[in-house]
Amino acid sequence: MVNKNQSILILTHEASPRLSYALDFIFSKQFLYDYTIIHKAPVNDAVLVIEYGDKATLNNTVFIPKSKMINLGNFDPKWNSKIREFGLSKSSSGLSFNIDIFSEIFFHLSRMEEYEFDSTEELNRFSVKNSSVNDLVLSPFLDFMIQQFVEGINAFWKIDITRNSQYTFIHTIDIDQFYSYKAKGIKRSFGGFGRDILKFRFGIALARLLANAKSKDDPYDTFDKLWKSLKTKEKYVFILQSQKGKFDKASNISHTEVKKIIQKISRIAQIGIHPGIETVKHIELIQKERNQLSKITNQKINISRQHYLNFHFPQTPTALIKSGIKHDFSLGFHDHIGFRAGTCHRFNYYDIENETVTPLTFVPTIAMDVTLKRHQNLSPKDAIETIKKLINACKSVSGAFCLLWHNSSFDVSEGWLGWDKVYKEIVKYADDQIV
Ligand SMILES: [Zn+2]
Repeated sequence: MVNKNQSILILTHEASPRLSYALDFIFSKQFLYDYTIIHKAPVNDAVLVIEYGDKATLNNTVFIPKSKMINLGNFDPKWNSKIREFGLSKSSSGLSFNIDIFSEIFFHLSRMEEYEFDSTEELNRFSVKNSSVNDLVLSPFLDFMIQQFVEGINAFWKIDITRNSQYTFIHTIDIDQFYSYKAKGIKRSFGGFGRDILKFRFGIALARLLANAKSKDDPYDTFDKLWKSLKTKEKYVFILQSQKGKFDKASNISHTEVKKIIQKISRIAQIGIHPGIETVKHIELIQKERNQLSKITNQKINISRQHYLNFHFPQTPTALIKSGIKHDFSLGFHDHIGFRAGTCHRFNYYDIENETVTPLTFVPTIAMDVTLKRHQNLSPKDAIETIKKLINACKSVSGAFCLLWHNSSFDVSEGWLGWDKVYKEIVKYADDQIV
C-alpha cells in the first residue's frame, strides 16, 4: 500500500528549471501535491514514483517518456508537439503515458514557437495561422491533458490529488479612447465635425456637437453599464496613453473630465497600462505611463496589456519586467478567440535565454470583441454561442475565462449594432458560472 501523504518522487537523470516549471504548473498552479525530484531509484517500492526517462525500468510506477525539449539550452521553435496523440495505458508493470507531458507543458507555456517566426502582418504579430497547433485553438489542450494525467495517477495509486483552483471570470476593458467626440480638444472635434459633414454623416455630426454641448451621452461613455452587479472580483481596465503614430490615438488623460472618469473607474476596477505601438519602440515610456496613471489613481500600477495585443517574445516580456510590471494580459490571438498557450490558467513567463522562471505572470485572454466581429466575422448570435462553449471549457478545467471588451464596442455608428446584447449575455453567462 502506498502512503497517501507522501510526496510524489520524480525519478530522472537530471533536474532542470524547465522540468520544475512544468511540474509546478501541474502540482502547484492547477492541483496541489508535493513532489520531489530524485536521481536514484528508491529502495522502498511502496512509494509514488514517476519515472521520467527513455524507458520504464521499475515496476508499479508511472512512466513518462522524456524528450529533448526539457533539456537546458534546447531551442527548437518548430518542435513537433505530440499533444494530439496524448494517451495512457496500464500494464502489469505500471501506468505509462505515451508522450512527454512535461515537455509539452514547457514548450507551449514558454511560447518557444513564437520566437523567430515569419510574418507579413503589419505589426508582425503572431497569428493563429503561425501556430503549429492552430487546429486546437478552441481547446485548453494543456489543461485537458493535465486533468487526464492527474485522473490517471489518482486512479492508479488510489490517491486524491485535488484542484488548487476554481473557475473564475475575469472582466477586462481596454480603453483606447474615452470619448468618441467629447473632450478630444477643439481642433480634433471640429476636424471630425468637418469630415462628418463632408461625408454626409449628419447624424454623427449632430451627435458630436450635442456631446460637446454635454446634452447627450457620448457613445464611448459606456462605463456605467460595464460592471453592473457582477459577482466576479476580477475587474481590470487598461488605459492607452500614447498619442503618436497611426495606431496610438489615446485620449489626453490629463484632461479634467478624463481624469475624473479614471478616478471613478479605479474605485471599481484595478487600473493598468495599455502600451501602444510607439511605447513598444521606446520602453522608457512604459515607466512614464505607469507613473502617470499612478498619480491620477493613487494606486500602484503593475498590470498591463499590449494595445492591439502586440506582444513579441522575448522583447515585450523583457521590457515589462524591466519596467516593474507584474501581470500581463496580452496572450490571446488577435485574429482568433481561444487559447494561445493551450491554457486558461495563469502562468509565469519562462525566460528561455537565461533558463529561468521569472516573476512576470501571464493571464491568458480568451476572447476579444474585435476578434469576434472583425477577424472572425461572426454574427452576434454565433458569437454568443461560440463564447458560451469557451466559458464551459474554462469551467471544466477550473480555469479563468478572461474577456476583453472595449468601451467603444457599443457604438452603432461604428458597426456594433447588436453587440450590446452579445456583451450582456456573455458577461452574465460567464459571471453566473462562478459558484
Ligand atoms: Zn487598445
